[in-house]
Amino acid sequence: MNRGGFILYGLSHTNDCLKMKYYNTDTVLFLDGEFVKASEAGTDLFGQTLHYGYGVFEGIRSYETVNGTKLFEAHAHYQRLTQSCELMGIPMHYSVEELVQLTYQVLEKNQLSNAYVRPLVFCGPNMALTSPSAVSVMIAAWPCERHPSLRPARVCVASFQRPNPKAVTMEAKVCGLYVNSILATTEARKRGFDDSLLLDLHGNVAEGPGANFFYEKDGVMYTPPGGSILPGITRKTVMEICYELEIAVEEKTFTPADLFEADSAFFCSTMNEIVAIESIERQPMKKPWNDSMSNLIRETYRNIVLDRSYSYVIV
Ligand code: PMP
Repeated sequence: MNRGGFILYGLSHTNDCLKMKYYNTDTVLFLDGEFVKASEAGTDLFGQTLHYGYGVFEGIRSYETVNGTKLFEAHAHYQRLTQSCELMGIPMHYSVEELVQLTYQVLEKNQLSNAYVRPLVFCGPNMALTSPSAVSVMIAAWPCERHPSLRPARVCVASFQRPNPKAVTMEAKVCGLYVNSILATTEARKRGFDDSLLLDLHGNVAEGPGANFFYEKDGVMYTPPGGSILPGITRKTVMEICYELEIAVEEKTFTPADLFEADSAFFCSTMNEIVAIESIERQPMKKPWNDSMSNLIRETYRNIVLDRSYSYVIV
């Protein structure tokens, strides 16, 4: 599909909004107080983020809703970005509200409605392993279509663990942490799987390379507790949906062996919303997806992001 000079590829299991050309000659992004052309914006080759992964970022979705273009949970994402900066000792000079308003301006200037937004806080030239010399804030956006019609994922258990939370605070969305995610995804694809599940240092299930994990068993949804996971905003929304739908949800530690008895399971993230899991290490889920509580949660999530319901009730 070609949309306004952007190249969008057909839907597959990968992040379709990410698998494209991110800008064209007209694209405008926000960079350090100005709106500039993406094709003319650049960065210093001696930046700390480029060399050491010392930077933080967010991923936000905007939707064309019945009430106009809306960023989903924008304040929560910018609160997390601000917290990531604090945890990493990276100064942030914009308030959450300013960042939200700037993001709406980026969308407007690019005439985007269904979009993926990428705020990035990156550090200037400094080859020393010390606090940053200068910090930049970028907000970019690109088209992201409405239907993340991803096929159910065939998932493996990664040989790579999530990092020890005593090495890097896992609550922060730090650029360098995604090396771990890339290794896990690459390994999964090499083994013929769509995606992978990473364990924590104790061998308990933590999360996907870029998504949180839930499974259903005997009418209860289970998800790993905080510590070795990014506390996802979609995860929080899923928990709120469960509360509204009177579905019991429990944070608990579990191992991959516990999942062989799962009725259903899914990954959840801002980017891909809720992705059905077909099997884990080739062991299929027990319930057909359409009969699962996970499917009900997915449908409800969709209604919420599109502002289609005033409550969580499905009609
Ligand atoms: N875990 C990781 C490692 C992630 O990268 C993401 C995506 N940001 C998530 C979980 C899900 O977070 P969210 O729901 O806030 O997008």
